[in-house]
Amino acid sequence: MTFATLGLIEPLLRSLETLGYQTPTPVQAQAIPAVLAGRDLMAAAQTGTGKTAGFALPLLQLLAMEGPKVAANSVRALILVPTRELAEQVHEAVRQYAENLPLRTYAVYGGVSINPQMMKLRSGVDLLVATPGRLLDLFRQNALKFNQLQTLVLDEADRMLDLGFSEELANIYKALPKKRQTLLFSATFSDDIRLLAGQMLNDPLSIEVSPRNVAANTVKQWIVTVDKKRKPELFVHLMRKGKWKQVLVFAKTRNGVDALVEKLQGLGINADGIHGDKPQATRQRALDRFKLSEVQILVATDVAARGLDIEDLPLVVNFDLPIVAEDYIHRIGRTGRAGSTGEAISLVCADEVNLLSAIEMLTRQTLKRQNEPDFEPEHRVPDTDASGQVVKKPKKPKKPKASGGGGGKRNLGKWVDSGEAAPAEPSIKPVRKVPVFNTGPRKRKP
Ligand code: AMP
Repeated sequence: MTFATLGLIEPLLRSLETLGYQTPTPVQAQAIPAVLAGRDLMAAAQTGTGKTAGFALPLLQLLAMEGPKVAANSVRALILVPTRELAEQVHEAVRQYAENLPLRTYAVYGGVSINPQMMKLRSGVDLLVATPGRLLDLFRQNALKFNQLQTLVLDEADRMLDLGFSEELANIYKALPKKRQTLLFSATFSDDIRLLAGQMLNDPLSIEVSPRNVAANTVKQWIVTVDKKRKPELFVHLMRKGKWKQVLVFAKTRNGVDALVEKLQGLGINADGIHGDKPQATRQRALDRFKLSEVQILVATDVAARGLDIEDLPLVVNFDLPIVAEDYIHRIGRTGRAGSTGEAISLVCADEVNLLSAIEMLTRQTLKRQNEPDFEPEHRVPDTDASGQVVKKPKKPKKPKASGGGGGKRNLGKWVDSGEAAPAEPSIKPVRKVPVFNTGPRKRKP
């Protein structure tokens, strides 16, 4: 199969040739003809599967071939994304695909001055990539009109809900013409997303190119158990031992990011951090420098987890496990993209056992545990498996039996290749079963 047989026009085929895309990925093969035929879509695709081109290529084609010329302050297609970084990235991809088409494209997001955005929108934009909050600001200030809108794309829709954008989405939804095409993309599908899809989509075609909630099988995943306070030390040890060249590291909090960056820089290691408290320009600079390999270790909160496309990123380290199990899939999806292989290592302390259990249940795999000599935890991480069981060992008897060479060490988890999904338990709602997740609504800025 080729992009030409999917019905794409010559100017797009030329752009794809320049970009070196030869064969459509599975999500592209399904989405492109459906979008060209005007269908609504509900697409679940693994991270790094090429979903951006899956919606952007047919969208650009429809804009180029159909509909009126864009009017002042109007927009004909809208792509909503959860973060500023993703807005930039999706727009950059769109810009490359649209290279040979006479279309105006633009991206708007918060954290930067609104005035240049208002100026730019005056002459109208065929395709606009936007974060929900800034889009509403622009709409309320009459910088944007939606009466010409023909297509809405929700990219990373589950993430938008996680970040607390449901009210913004509802307000945007009210302002849009009822007759339009809607495409909903998400790496994972929760019940909330299915509800949103029910409200927003009209007879959608469902596309599922990978099993639900399974991490990319090109990523080798393992964990090292360690005491919380020794995580920084273990990280530096593993980094030196593995001669890590380029690593994206995830920490739970902004303070956690800053503390680790400071520690690494103090050791003369080339590290930088991104999180929601940093100005947009600083975040973008750190990301750009990381992509250019000018920064070796980039430490981030989950704001960086979705959608960032860093070519050939070999390694992701979860310095802390994510609070929401689905974020694990997004985090490790930064490596092993577009068919290359990658590795994801998680440093897990005893406090995080419920988070680990939820991840294993969601991804239907027991993560391989690897011991690091000299870092064995004093506070043991109980055994977990993909069933969601946390095996609390009975208290030690007063007179322990002599052990036969095993040294009393814990049972290593069974290694299941991530491609080898354990049988699903369809009625299980993994995230909510684990009490630690009842943490109330998530904050907008992680
Ligand atoms: P995405 O999942 O949209 O973030 O895409 C992941 C990466 O795959 C990006 O670097 C794309 O440029 C690349 N990509 C997307 N589609 C193709 C394709 N058909 N052939 C080669 N690379 C692709």
